[in-house]
Amino acid sequence: MKSPPNWPPGSEPNRNARNICTPGGDTWIEGYGLQPVHPAHKYIRALAPEGIQGMESILVLTHADETGATLTKASLEAVTAGLALAVRLSAPLSIGIVAADATAAANSLASTGARLLAVTGEAFAQPRFATDAAACEALCRAANATIVLAPGSSRFTRVAAAVAHRLNGFIDTHITTIAGTEAVEATRWFYRQRIEAVLPRDARPWFLLLAPGAHASFAAGAGSAQIEQSPGTRPESRTTVTGLRSPQQGAQTIRPDAKLLFVAGAGWTKKQPAGQTHVPEAADLILGLLGSTSASLGSSKSLVDQGGEGQSVLPFLTHLNQIGQTGATPRHPKGLSTCCHGEEPHVVGWRFIAERRAISLDPNCGWTRGKADVVYVADAFPVIAKLNALLTPAKS
Ligand SMILES: Cc1cc2nc3c(=O)[nH]c(=O)nc-3n(C[C@H](O)[C@H](O)[C@H](O)COP(=O)(O)OP(=O)(O)OC[C@H]3O[C@@H](n4cnc5c(N)ncnc54)[C@H](O)[C@@H]3O)c2cc1C
Repeated sequence: MKSPPNWPPGSEPNRNARNICTPGGDTWIEGYGLQPVHPAHKYIRALAPEGIQGMESILVLTHADETGATLTKASLEAVTAGLALAVRLSAPLSIGIVAADATAAANSLASTGARLLAVTGEAFAQPRFATDAAACEALCRAANATIVLAPGSSRFTRVAAAVAHRLNGFIDTHITTIAGTEAVEATRWFYRQRIEAVLPRDARPWFLLLAPGAHASFAAGAGSAQIEQSPGTRPESRTTVTGLRSPQQGAQTIRPDAKLLFVAGAGWTKKQPAGQTHVPEAADLILGLLGSTSASLGSSKSLVDQGGEGQSVLPFLTHLNQIGQTGATPRHPKGLSTCCHGEEPHVVGWRFIAERRAISLDPNCGWTRGKADVVYVADAFPVIAKLNALLTPAKS
């Protein structure tokens, strides 16, 4: 029986070498002796004897942004995670790039010293299930990876489970940290960020989709890199991308990369001390602050629910802005909550906001009970008006 080609010591057998073994039988692997073949597979899976089994080969999957050439921020975060893991495990690192043209992206990764693989061409410029899944599969096969890290972007989240399935692998998502020196331990949160779990797995290849914002971006530098093109055959696809439609300039209020999360609570629409509501004024103040700070806009559930209850609402808020147990858990260095009570189902969505401040009229609100670093017991209307007045000239 032929020994599998391209099997460097410590890595998994070449999964493309389907002719080398008999399902259910044994096969001879050079350097490892006679090994059992998994009955369900036509090729060898997890055959390496103890000690060798623990040795990993790491692949980081990345993709370009809408320019078609530059890697996305989330991809560069995955590169950071891959580099750290490769160093810790003393394992070989490959980086796979999916892009129309991978030259610029590969050059920006030259200093990593990783093996750079790419699937390129116009077909891979646009996110599309068939082409992205084929590209990722080709890269995984070329790298013979046991651990595959990928950014949890919408583009790769759509295809990663299918690629893991095609490779008889296993996938975990929303990974925030990867630890362990002997074995790989991935961490993620469950139950709306209330329980943190550490996941070890024996299954390989193991795909880990990384939560955006959980790692620093790799500082891409200039260099000259050698790329190995993977033959990413363009599969049959019924999907043709005819163009992109983006929200009008300024209409987008959710900004995941913003330094500040500004949260509006239901208090903005409540009757104020003079007995009147001031919803249009509230809208102007909130939009004014967003304009001068480029903050991301979050909301309490009560405020976005008001639309369905027939009350006057802030027209630029939707349920996508909702932070909390039944909303989003964004990552920002700072957060400012206004006119919001700070109840637990809301505050649980602030898990990853590093520095928290709140403005509320209620000195007994939830924020004052240890949930915010600083609470201003004040009327948010004049406070934000004053803030806008201070910020506007500073920006112009
Ligand atoms: C299963 C479940 C899931 C939930 N999930 C979520 C979730 O994902 N996200 C979420 O947000 N909520 C969630 N909730 C609801 C949550 O418990 C609260 O009801 C909600 O967050 C309260 O919103 P609020 O603070 O904006 O409104 P309110 O409770 O009405 O508080 C308004 C606050 O504004 C203050 N205020 C009024 N006027 C001013 C002013 N001029 N200046 C300063 N302060 C002022 C008031 O003092 C008050 O503290 C959930 C509840 C349940 C039961």
